[in-house]
Amino acid sequence: MKVLSHALQFYKWWSSWLGDGGKPVAQQLAQSRADTCRICPLNKEMSLITLLAEGVASTVHRQMEIRNNLKLRVEGEHELHICSACSCVLGLKIWSPIRHVLDNTDLSDLHPQCWILKETNNTQSPCS
Ligand code: SF4
Repeated sequence: MKVLSHALQFYKWWSSWLGDGGKPVAQQLAQSRADTCRICPLNKEMSLITLLAEGVASTVHRQMEIRNNLKLRVEGEHELHICSACSCVLGLKIWSPIRHVLDNTDLSDLHPQCWILKETNNTQSPCS
């Protein structure tokens, strides 16, 4: 039973980060997203205490461990913090499939140059 509960917990960490059946995006796309976030004025440093207050620190920590084990890396990673528009941990979010990002992000407060808005526009058909 302990194995099952660990597996379920792992699934929860995995799916909340990458979505059901999700895979991390290609490194080149994650790097491009990271480069946008690094210079975005909404990329804000937030302390662990704040994350603890939000009740998500342990989940974020575990997801970071999984990311590190998968060797998912971008240049300038230390400059990625928390998006003050969507409250997401950018070092994780840049690896999420755009569908999962869109299902879990309020687009209204994002910066006009945000990669989420660009990718959303790129995925919309000209007829929609
Ligand atoms: S608004 Fe977009 S580009 Fe800016 S920090 Fe948030 S996710 Fe990154």
